Amino acid sequence: TQAHVDAVEKARALNAFILETPERALAQAEVSDRKIAAGEARPLEGLPLGIKDLFCTHGVTTTAGSKILEGFEPHYESAVTANLWRDGAVMLGKLNLDEFAMGSSNETSAYGTVVSPWRRTGSDAQIVPGGSSGGSAAAVAAHLCLGATATDTGGSIRQPAAFTGTVGIKPTYGRCSRWGTVAFASSLDQAGPIARTVRDCAVLLASMAGPDARDTTCVDLPVPDFEAAVSRGVKGLTIGIPKEYRVDGMPAEIQKLWDQGAAWLKEAGATIKEISLPHTQYALPAYYIVAPAEASSNLARYDGVRYGLRVPANDIVGLYEKTRAAGFGREVKRRIMIGTYVLSAGYYDAYYVRAQKIRTLIKRDFEAAYAEGVDAILTPATPSAAFGIGEKASADPVEMYLNDVFTVTVNMAGLPGIAVPAGLDSQGLPLGLQLIGRPFDEETLFAVAQTIE
Ligand code: GLN
Repeated sequence: TQAHVDAVEKARALNAFILETPERALAQAEVSDRKIAAGEARPLEGLPLGIKDLFCTHGVTTTAGSKILEGFEPHYESAVTANLWRDGAVMLGKLNLDEFAMGSSNETSAYGTVVSPWRRTGSDAQIVPGGSSGGSAAAVAAHLCLGATATDTGGSIRQPAAFTGTVGIKPTYGRCSRWGTVAFASSLDQAGPIARTVRDCAVLLASMAGPDARDTTCVDLPVPDFEAAVSRGVKGLTIGIPKEYRVDGMPAEIQKLWDQGAAWLKEAGATIKEISLPHTQYALPAYYIVAPAEASSNLARYDGVRYGLRVPANDIVGLYEKTRAAGFGREVKRRIMIGTYVLSAGYYDAYYVRAQKIRTLIKRDFEAAYAEGVDAILTPATPSAAFGIGEKASADPVEMYLNDVFTVTVNMAGLPGIAVPAGLDSQGLPLGLQLIGRPFDEETLFAVAQTIE
């Protein structure tokens, strides 16, 4: 823990942490020492982790990357982090993220951009770590922690993992409790780990997951032995390759990596099968209706009264207006505008209801593939390697949204997805592959991902 506390301090230029909690880390580590000495070590005893600042931590400031939550100290602990502490893990601090997890590059955080530890060969231009879990991915990639918590609404675990050469899994919707995690889009949000290996992810997810009556969408299923699943191999499995993911303008390097991944799995004993997921092209536009709609509703609670920032005014409406104007950043305001628009009378049927129908069609595409005997689906994790800081931030927001083209389908269908590093591009930046599984079959994803890793 001391070595990691020192590493975090030395790597402040990455801006991965919004808050460092070294005293707490060292106090937790002392408890771990005593447990180990007494022969009572718990499953994650003494493992130093970073916590995405979207998870509420009791008595420790939780900002969600937003100015509106400045100084907010929850008097409760999120279910996921409580599970980690129960198992003996140690908290190094709270990790930076895009504001309210809205973004793909960590450039929307009110606490500044996170810098990836990676550089293009022969260049010192700063690279984004991806988002929204950019702090988590950068901290793991830079060896500042052994693992990190993250959340994924449309790709925020898998895309930053792919951009930083780390492993990240978004479990099936309902596997982890959302209780105490700041909500973005409640029907899509899931917590999961980012770590350096598939095995580390399996160990962390086993602790983070599990039933919780306080989140009615959290399933009452026992948590399987994920670590045991890692070494199962892929013999006899059928891996689907969806032709619709061969999108226009996909770099040749990504296509090559994808083919390579399929070849590795074939060599290891899997059967490769070409499949069709015909509604794929509608997933991204439908996601950018559903997610902002739910976000606009979830963010209504930040009124200047209950949490964090308060900008005084003469009356209550003025208080709301001034607080929200000062507290929310540009991207969050854009989402609220889109969300309230698509939910408004007169547009609700044309946008929101249609997007929900598309969501059903996307889910059925996957169900049909799995009904034909496909065990997992292999796709690229992202349409490109990481880009430079500032390269896409000022452009058309849709340019940024296109990053999520391979990941949002998985959230729309509620399925588990894992990103695993698979190689480097010609500029020396990491590229990742994604595996999509059957509902509540994270075990197969761990086995297949391990074969690629
Ligand atoms: N990049 C996507 C968005 O901005 C997904 C974010 C996420 O998964 N939290 O909505």
